[in-house]
Amino acid sequence: MNGRVRILAVLIAAVVSSAMTSAQQGMTRYVRFSYQNSVAYGVLEGETIRELKGDLFATPEFTGRTMKLEAVRLLAPCQPSKVIAVGLNYKSHLGDREPAPYPGLFAKLPTSIVGPGDAILAPEDAKNLHFEGELVVVIGKRARNVSVAAAPQHVFGVTAGNDVSERDWQKNDLQWFRAKGADTFGPLGPVIVKGLNYGDLLLQTRLNGEVLQSQRTKDLLFDVPNLVSYISRYVTLEPGDVIYTGTPGSTKAMKPGDVVEIEIEGVGVLRNRVERPR
Ligand code: MG
Repeated sequence: MNGRVRILAVLIAAVVSSAMTSAQQGMTRYVRFSYQNSVAYGVLEGETIRELKGDLFATPEFTGRTMKLEAVRLLAPCQPSKVIAVGLNYKSHLGDREPAPYPGLFAKLPTSIVGPGDAILAPEDAKNLHFEGELVVVIGKRARNVSVAAAPQHVFGVTAGNDVSERDWQKNDLQWFRAKGADTFGPLGPVIVKGLNYGDLLLQTRLNGEVLQSQRTKDLLFDVPNLVSYISRYVTLEPGDVIYTGTPGSTKAMKPGDVVEIEIEGVGVLRNRVERPR
């Protein structure tokens, strides 16, 4: 390498490195994990977790302990008191239906939440169990009747979620209680990212490695600030509450043994296997 080429190579490396730094600046990745019989929150930096103590949504402090990511078991990244979900929020998922004039809300149960790597348990009579890859909003500050403009201040960050849905029950039951709310029907994680521009992220769902959903979050019909504002008119959102923002495109039935992955740009991959309860 002659002198001029070497200088150019150093300059390019500096530009790439500074671009990466600015892309990651102000972005924090939070996990919840179990390690040696204790459960804690932490900040994930590369492959290392810096353990936190205290409430993630108040003023947590570092304990000074660190652990390797591979040494811990990641859990769902928060424990919501409410799990709210939005239906029909991407044009690509509407089919012949007209876009709704306001967000179509429903609830999932907090006991539907499981973490990355946990099993999605398909009850014996679940014959038409579908995945729904979704961007999930995590509330950071109590929100009651907040404006669209103020809504972003109440968002802590975002993660990935799978709004697992039993389509036959969804169609035939009085409500979506078991179709959407059964145990393990709400995988969540692997991290909550704070400081990410959640208004335009690539969302993909893979079933056994095959990409079946692929859409950017800018295509949401009701975006995150509008959803938070709208929901807060009726329900007080508390720190740690989550909103599944809706799924794009089409979905497909899963069977025991299948592995479903929801990947969101900047968040990572939420991977779960479908199993029969033992
Ligand atoms: Mg959904």
